[in-house]
Amino acid sequence: MVQREGIGISPGAVIAEAAVLRHSGTGVEHTVADDSGNELSVFSAAYDSALSSLDTSLASSDDEKAMLMMLQTMLSDPDYLNQIDENIRERKYNAAWAVEAATEKYASMLDKLGDGYFSERASDIRDAGYILIDAIRGEALSAFHLTKPSILVADYLLPSEFLRLDRSYLKGLCLDGGGKTSHIAILSRSADIPAVFALGDFSIHASNGSIIAMDGKYGTAVIDPQRRILSEYRLRCDAAAKADAELQKEAGLPAETTDGFRIRLMCNIEGLDGVDGAISSGAEGIGLFRTEFLALQKAYLEDEGKMDHVYQEAVERMSGYGPVTFRTYDIGGDKVLDGMGINEENPILGWRAVRFCMENKELFRSQLVSILKASAVCRSVRIMFPMISGSEELCEVLSFLEEVKSECRAKGIPFDENMEIGTMIEVPSAAITADVLADHVDFMSIGTNDLIQYTIAVDRGNEKISYLYQPLHPAVLRLIKYVVDSAKKKGKKVSMCGEMAGEAEYLPILVGMGFDELSMSAHSILEAKRRIRLLDKGSCTQFVNHVLSLPDAVSIEAALKEFSEQYGKA
Ligand code: PEP
Ligand code: MG
Repeated sequence: MVQREGIGISPGAVIAEAAVLRHSGTGVEHTVADDSGNELSVFSAAYDSALSSLDTSLASSDDEKAMLMMLQTMLSDPDYLNQIDENIRERKYNAAWAVEAATEKYASMLDKLGDGYFSERASDIRDAGYILIDAIRGEALSAFHLTKPSILVADYLLPSEFLRLDRSYLKGLCLDGGGKTSHIAILSRSADIPAVFALGDFSIHASNGSIIAMDGKYGTAVIDPQRRILSEYRLRCDAAAKADAELQKEAGLPAETTDGFRIRLMCNIEGLDGVDGAISSGAEGIGLFRTEFLALQKAYLEDEGKMDHVYQEAVERMSGYGPVTFRTYDIGGDKVLDGMGINEENPILGWRAVRFCMENKELFRSQLVSILKASAVCRSVRIMFPMISGSEELCEVLSFLEEVKSECRAKGIPFDENMEIGTMIEVPSAAITADVLADHVDFMSIGTNDLIQYTIAVDRGNEKISYLYQPLHPAVLRLIKYVVDSAKKKGKKVSMCGEMAGEAEYLPILVGMGFDELSMSAHSILEAKRRIRLLDKGSCTQFVNHVLSLPDAVSIEAALKEFSEQYGKA
């Protein structure tokens, strides 16, 4: 038996046989090829077949499409292709070796830049390289076949490999490495596959057919568990299934505290494939539509009609449930498309979101027009702007929106003149000036993922310093409280759409602060609703006052635990 604790990535308890995938030892042969011409034609044929295998029309979700587009972009990079050509012509490498060497050259350059964002991009490059190598070796692009219900145990998993897995047999995913914000994490959550990452040497100890018990909520996994542990996991699976079924029954109940304080629970989505989950979990609207994921697929950017169609369909399908809040493109940072001219040393603090959009006005204009058109379909569309750092920036963006509205009026394009406008609060300078920003908008939505990262100066994707990523840090809570109070003073709505909103244990604090809305992933909504229905707003407000007098995250966490034991635990 081997037991490991890693990071819970996607919730769910599962017991199933292992299918093991280890990438080491797949050995590309290194032979000197005198006939470079022949190697070049081998490469060229493999290249064509690899590209055609990445046909986006085969993708079954927006995330998958984005992934295939990203791989196509990687495989079309001219520097990468030149390096392969040079390896074949000048160094006389055979085709597979030439690809392997070029891939490793770029991937290891990125690896050296650090964990998190860069190591994830290195893994993307290796992914693209493997597709080419597979094609050269003629194994090309055959799906990684699971033949029965299995938990995939791997040292790491490339996004293209995930896309090729037979999802009907994939019951869980255990990886030796990986972070919460990696592409694989996003894909497994959106496909609702339980996942645990960062399990160390787990895959070394597993073999095909080993029994694996895993829990994606608590981040634990066991190989060939002893009887006692196996029964413990069986209980967890049963309990999780029962709890899900129980929670589902409450989907139609209001999220209201025992003393009548009502909160609107909404859903975060990245594309149309999130709408059904939002509806079935009882979401009262979309609190965050991360539009940039669609924009990272060139097909959407190049065809304005496609974007119009998606926005309008989202609004139509959500009508009767609640508003759809389109966040304008948060392009930049770790969400970059080749050819956008974004290549920065410090992209997270760089040219992103409204900073990028205000310099790319045609792109921005066309998105604003699409959102305005969607607002005419059903008057429940809201728009909000990401990464606003202060009032000057906000006012510039708002005046551009006014300009676009005037153009629409002139062209006779109908839109909702009363469409609500909001700003995200995810930069500390915006939080500190929330009282000023509130004068210019109808609502404010706190993006805690970035707000925490910028307040504590801790990269949200870097596992090495994840201990510093503390939602309960007093500095973070004081900022959040200030934003809520500022919004309330000015009679504006305030919501939270960062991951913190979906963590049920923080609800006493969020309810006590008085949020009007909380927006989260679909699977968090039902549990949040259950917790809210057990809480008493009056006690939560008093508790917040106490929490704000505490000196650090550790004491706040302890106080929260004590409070939750007293109130609000099912
Ligand atoms: C946030 O920063 O909290 C947020 C919701 O935006 P994103 O996670 O897309 O950066
Ligand atoms: Mg953000």
